[in-house]
Amino acid sequence: MSSSGFEPTIFSRIIAREIPATIVAETEHIIAFLDIAPKAPVHVVITTKDPQFQNVVELAAGNPVLLAELVSVAERIAAERTNGQFRLVFNTGAAAGQTVFHVHAHLLGSPEPTESLGEDSLGAL
Ligand code: 5GP
Repeated sequence: MSSSGFEPTIFSRIIAREIPATIVAETEHIIAFLDIAPKAPVHVVITTKDPQFQNVVELAAGNPVLLAELVSVAERIAAERTNGQFRLVFNTGAAAGQTVFHVHAHLLGSPEPTESLGEDSLGAL
């Protein structure tokens, strides 16, 4: 258990630079890094530095301003790395595919102007 009272997740260890990740954006409250097992040509995980929210429902209820900042960071990364059209997926609950219980979005997209994402990138997340 950490001093904040929350069991550190793998994302907390990335935030603390205890394990490496390719960080693509960072603000005071948000960090974004490449997913280790990408499901699309662009696959970025965007998470809060604060570990207290396990999923997007908790974040929306507890700190909607922080959720809006997370979405804003996602939009900025998408503008830089994709053709401007993208998926933003919040798995919520183990049965929905959530494996890390530290709120995060998956940004999925393609840098190619003509490439569209198939249904597969949703199913396997
Ligand atoms: P979830 O399944 O909870 O929606 O998403 C967790 C994501 O974190 C997965 O897509 C998984 O590939 C990614 N992930 C898990 N461990 C690591 C890691 O150590 N480094 C990085 N960069 N991504 C990770």
